[in-house]
Amino acid sequence: MSEAFKPVRTTCPYCGVGCGIVASVANDGAVSVRGDPDHPANFGKLCSKGAALAETLSLDGRLRHPIIQGEKAGWDEALDLVAERFGRAIAKYGPDSVAFYISGQLLTEDYYVANKLMKGFIGSANIDTNSRLCMASSVSGHKRAFGSDTVPGCYEDLELADLVVLVGSNLAWCHPVLYQRLSAAREQRGTKIVVIDPRRTATCEIADLHLPLAPGSDVALFNGLLREVAAKNVIDDDYVEAHTTEITNALTAARPWNISNVARETGLDEPTVEDFYRLFVENQKVVTVYSQGVNQSTVGTDKVNAILNCHLATGRIGRPGTGPFSVTGQPNAMGGREVGGLANQLACHMELENAGHREIVQEFWGSTRIARNPGLKAVDLFEAVGDGRIKALWIMGTNPVDSLPDADAARAALDACPFVVVSDVERRTDTTAHAHVLLPSAAWGEKDGTVTNSERRISRQRRFLPGPEETKPDWWQFNQVARRMGFSEAFPYEHPADILAEYASLSALDSSGPRDFDISACADITRDAYEGLEPFQWPFKKGQAAADTRFFAEGGFFTQDRRARIVATPHHAPDVTPSGEFPLVLNTGRIRDQWHTMTRTGKAARLTQHFTEPFVEIHPEDSATTGVKNAQLAVIQSALGSITVRTLVSDSQRPGSVFVPIHWTDQQASSARVDRLVAARTDPVSGQPESKLTPVAVTPFEPAWHGFAVMGEQPRHIPTDYWAMAPAKAGWRVELACTTTPDDWSRLAKNLLLPDDAAAPDILAYHDATSGQHRIALFEDDRLLGALFVNTSPVEVSRSWVAEQLSVRLDDPAARLRTLAGHPGGNIVEKGEVVCACFEIGVDQIIEVASGTKATVDYIGKMLGAGTNCGSCRPEISRIIKGVITGTQPGP
Ligand code: SF4
Repeated sequence: MSEAFKPVRTTCPYCGVGCGIVASVANDGAVSVRGDPDHPANFGKLCSKGAALAETLSLDGRLRHPIIQGEKAGWDEALDLVAERFGRAIAKYGPDSVAFYISGQLLTEDYYVANKLMKGFIGSANIDTNSRLCMASSVSGHKRAFGSDTVPGCYEDLELADLVVLVGSNLAWCHPVLYQRLSAAREQRGTKIVVIDPRRTATCEIADLHLPLAPGSDVALFNGLLREVAAKNVIDDDYVEAHTTEITNALTAARPWNISNVARETGLDEPTVEDFYRLFVENQKVVTVYSQGVNQSTVGTDKVNAILNCHLATGRIGRPGTGPFSVTGQPNAMGGREVGGLANQLACHMELENAGHREIVQEFWGSTRIARNPGLKAVDLFEAVGDGRIKALWIMGTNPVDSLPDADAARAALDACPFVVVSDVERRTDTTAHAHVLLPSAAWGEKDGTVTNSERRISRQRRFLPGPEETKPDWWQFNQVARRMGFSEAFPYEHPADILAEYASLSALDSSGPRDFDISACADITRDAYEGLEPFQWPFKKGQAAADTRFFAEGGFFTQDRRARIVATPHHAPDVTPSGEFPLVLNTGRIRDQWHTMTRTGKAARLTQHFTEPFVEIHPEDSATTGVKNAQLAVIQSALGSITVRTLVSDSQRPGSVFVPIHWTDQQASSARVDRLVAARTDPVSGQPESKLTPVAVTPFEPAWHGFAVMGEQPRHIPTDYWAMAPAKAGWRVELACTTTPDDWSRLAKNLLLPDDAAAPDILAYHDATSGQHRIALFEDDRLLGALFVNTSPVEVSRSWVAEQLSVRLDDPAARLRTLAGHPGGNIVEKGEVVCACFEIGVDQIIEVASGTKATVDYIGKMLGAGTNCGSCRPEISRIIKGVITGTQPGP
């Protein structure tokens, strides 16, 4: 047992909840993490991802030194080359021939330096961030309504509201600690909860009402709500009169949306629509939380404004327990918005197109050529890379080959670009494969900076580990290149505190109109004070104490006339409809235990156990029509390409729609990059791409054989048409399928299961050519090296148990035979797929305990421990119990 010391307070690097974490490093270097009881975002709670952070810190696969054209290089050589190539492109083709594509994973200090270099000194605004893909429509909607990108409320409002409406937000999986706060408030005070989502997600476990609306019909639903609040006289005339404008136009746009028209357009039944409207009308204290289901749409900005309109018209904004609430996907999406990380912004919520703002920033930075026009937004930026307008591109902390829509086009664009730099923590990603220069970045726990969460709370991320070998913080990399490009005077930073101090000073400067963002209290921050900086909400003005803040209860919007705009949002039906060749709608999103493209969460065996393979969730009716069966493989085909994934039949899915998670890449699966199916269609206001509405066809993939394998070392080459691999505690587990049958199964097993230099193993095998079943286990002494199970249908073995045998001594023949059988035998209850990641409790164990009892989630917790640590699995346990009671299959 290692002795822990040096607890360091830091912030989780995953979702926008921004939970505080206490990390401790023991004498032997072992890291442990726990929730920070004093952090106001989570008060000690963590979800499954946050709780497993220590297991993601392995240095395996880390990029440890600069690489130029595949060869190890020194920092000076690499930085000189980057500066020279960017400088050469600018000199020959102008500033708009270069671009940065950065990330909501970056810290605010990284963002600030990147933005200053590109907009203030290179003189182009070609810098955009992957946050464009997750919340740009919220930014546009806020700016249209409020005149600024201001989130009015705070997390506490979810606990003070009488009604919480969740739109396009699977809070239980995507913002789990916020879900837990809401769930606890519901238990204490009976908060009503409405979930508006085409899918019946885990979040619906605490919903009083679920509206499984048709994809893309949200604007009609909220226009109908605006019409209803007007009809029921719950418009707050005083608030509207004093603080808003343009309500008449919005009401005119809403007029066609009576209940029956809303029901027809949304595919909901009329009583469900009426119930939702009644709840909104009857409850003064309403919070509407919305997320990617709203933002990731070609009409995302209109969806946002349609929601904001209902709150502005009823004056339900800025007071405790009221308000619209955009929750962000990434840890520092908000920080990026504040610091000007998007191609159409300047720092501190100033606008690139506002001459007064440009003047303030240019003078403050002492720059000679500030960008005058908005730069290319993410999708347009990669189009410009592909068609040759961008000659040099620097990608930092993101994986666009997987995450951009039309992802194959993004990959081809990188191959066509004359000079691509990628800064990352990992050596091998689908994007690093296309870089001319790779720069090794410091990872979470190895760097210092600040992040802003969804409630405008700025917290410190703190360093508690040394970075391996030559890794460096991202701000340092931009700073060094800026100096080499001749801007040393403007880039004097030696420490992130220097950067925050400058940024805070800029936020204090007078501008040509009112502005919300002000953190001038940090303008003189010293390095010691930076080290001790406590989480605070902005605004945090010089001379004032930090305090929790809300906006707009008394108006004071950031438009010229200080009034909000109630924006007319006529509903337009989606511009693509599934039909003919592509009759289903593809929706993409996250799963509970994975993050983005798995570069971190994919390292933790217990996080990969929840879903070990890429999958498509499909309704039973569509399963019947398409012929794809549960647990079989399916091909998802769009106009752009296809992927092959496991089928999960579930009535949680809306008929006509299928869901595929975003996480799998070519590093973990043969063909599961879902964004290669998604066309690059964007919202005309925000530039955010649509991710929820792609017409697709689903057909069965019918291989000659299916396989499951475990092995001690990660396989380097898997010679099958389908494969998906995930780490297990003592090795790897791989699902396989292939259309051709090998001549020699034992040879295939050895090639797949053993490293090239392995000695000849002991082989235990069973072959039944008639049934097509083959089982091969390879041993060295009393240790299992690997096992392969093959069948003509999906293999039925106890997967978790087989994977566990890699770490067990198998010194008697019976134990070896049980391994070959693939089941523990005896009275041992098989685990099934893992539901509770903290205690590794599987679905079969929960069903066993729940059967024949009046089980509750708490009872399962008492008996098995499941759901009693981070609590992220409690909605699924509840769903499994319901499945046992009703005799139905639990969905994911
Ligand atoms: Fe991290 Fe989970 Fe908290 Fe999000 S909810 S910040 S992923 S611990």
